[in-house]
Amino acid sequence: MEKAAYRVLLYYLYTDIKNPEEAAQQHLEYCKSIGLKGRILIAKEGINGTISGTIEQTDRYMNDMKADKRFADIIFKIDEADGHAFKKMHVRPRPELVTLRLHEEDVDPRVTTGQYLKPMEWLEKLEDPNTIVLDARNKYEYDLGHFKGAIRPDIDYFRELPEWVDENRELLEGKEILTYCTGGIRCEKFSGWLKEKGFENVNHLEGGIVTYGKDEEARGRGWNGQCYVFDERISVPINQEEHVIVGRDYFTGEPCERYINCCDPACNKQILATEESEAFYLGGCTHKCRTSPRNRYVIKHGLTEEHVEQQLQKIDEQLKVSR
Ligand SMILES: [Zn+2]
Repeated sequence: MEKAAYRVLLYYLYTDIKNPEEAAQQHLEYCKSIGLKGRILIAKEGINGTISGTIEQTDRYMNDMKADKRFADIIFKIDEADGHAFKKMHVRPRPELVTLRLHEEDVDPRVTTGQYLKPMEWLEKLEDPNTIVLDARNKYEYDLGHFKGAIRPDIDYFRELPEWVDENRELLEGKEILTYCTGGIRCEKFSGWLKEKGFENVNHLEGGIVTYGKDEEARGRGWNGQCYVFDERISVPINQEEHVIVGRDYFTGEPCERYINCCDPACNKQILATEESEAFYLGGCTHKCRTSPRNRYVIKHGLTEEHVEQQLQKIDEQLKVSR
């Protein structure tokens, strides 16, 4: 196999940044000067980024970051790639890297957080019947893949997680809690929040799912499906020993790992759908979305009004049958 010429770097660090606006501006110019692409957030509490570039560009970036006192402790998660995973380079200042509380003081992971677990420690606790596994991600991420037996909070945004916990406290009470997210940035904050809320035995997966999947010993065991990522790849494999598909086609319920955005720009909901389902349902998650004058699927495929009309009729018949 030919060696990949590009890399995708995923990283974050909770660290003190003095002037996030100024730091973001400088960092953007710096990244552009090297030729990197991606998305980086900078806040008073730290930095969080996913970037892509050639081997040389990413090497230079990692070396420069390690030489900077503020960023020296960053652990980069490195994936090989065939090309860029982004179209542009953005560096944005933010009040927080990830937000758990909208109106109160946010939790500071530099002060309070749960117990960090290395991949093998995680695997051991995962198999322990006395622990409970709580996914700290959004439901559309969970639906593509998750740790076996993990609880799926019914949330669309990370900031909704505290309310979900308050409403489902009995699930977690008195248990040893294991929580995880993609790269570790969310669960590191979330585990601190759980501790503040009085849950004593809280653990989180150090380096997140992505690190776990690369660990030579753990080899991604216990993970089912694919891991959702926030760049053009959409998903990456984790379990190196077996691939159990947990994703289900939104329309048919059949095994599926293909994410699309609903065709209506006003909806844009992410749904799992095979190419066949997408074509049959004109790319839309509801009748309203399918009949939107801005239906991207219809526009992209140059479908005639007549075709759309016929298809809507077929969908109607199909929905009657399945009801
Ligand atoms: Zn929709």
